[in-house]
Amino acid sequence: MEIIEDIGRMRARAEELMVRRVDRGFVPTMGALHEGHLSLARRSGGENAVTIMSVFVNPAQFMPGEDYDSYPRTWKKDLELAEGIGVDIVFHPTAEQMYPPRRQTTVQVHELAKRLCGISRGLGHFIGVATVVAKLFNIVAPTRAYFGQKDAQQALVIQRMALDLNFPVKIVVCPIIRADDGLALSSRNRNIPAGLRPRALALREGLSLGREMIRNRNYDAQSVFNAICEHILRDDAIELDYLHLVSPETLEDVERIDDLVLIAGAIKIGGVRLIDNILVGPDGPWDD
Ligand code: AMP
Repeated sequence: MEIIEDIGRMRARAEELMVRRVDRGFVPTMGALHEGHLSLARRSGGENAVTIMSVFVNPAQFMPGEDYDSYPRTWKKDLELAEGIGVDIVFHPTAEQMYPPRRQTTVQVHELAKRLCGISRGLGHFIGVATVVAKLFNIVAPTRAYFGQKDAQQALVIQRMALDLNFPVKIVVCPIIRADDGLALSSRNRNIPAGLRPRALALREGLSLGREMIRNRNYDAQSVFNAICEHILRDDAIELDYLHLVSPETLEDVERIDDLVLIAGAIKIGGVRLIDNILVGPDGPWDD
């Protein structure tokens, strides 16, 4: 496995692959790798001759007061896992290289980024995400890029950006990988105090409860919302950041569930912010 830390070298390598018409799969990550990340790399490996994974904790997407400093960093272990899964190139730039002092350009996806995490984390979050992914696309020049449904809004924002700015890349969105008990895998799970870990399931349970209500033909978004909130807030260790039932295309709130809806939520537990979501409509799906 090749490790490339320099932007110029990464671009030169990408150009060489491009000239040879080698399909390049790209998996952008912030490291602290887990099965969720590895599932994207595996999918890329099945669809491309070469898989490039970036490991970069992007300072621009963390807002003041968020967990940039305490975000888990497990570089050595990440390399082992990436190599084990067959990643060909790990791109690991420094923040100084990615963000030189006189930069003044950002990328903003206006409407999709205003909702869900864009409200609770602030507009700057998705500006940070879209900008770094645009930069990475320009450096890595992938044929396909892989994102997780776990960050459903992020995947939509990136899809919109790639269309709007004509990036010649196919965006592939992959299913949420969960722990045995159902908790969505996340690098941040490592920071949940051990005693609180079982209680972090409240959001997942709430989402499943919402799905059961829809299965029982309760199509009123407000009553599904109320039941999920009530479930989550039963535990006083949990702070509900947001919960929304939205269109999976526009992320606008829905009143009636007469088509697929995205039920998306964010909680804080033991100082750690976790997100999860479920896609469900009057005809299912009833499991994931
Ligand atoms: P991150 O390192 O958290 O920025 O995530 C890198 C990529 O992995 C993003 O596209 C995430 O959506 C994806 N990802 C993170 N957790 C999961 C998961 N549990 N299942 C599937 N994809 C995931």
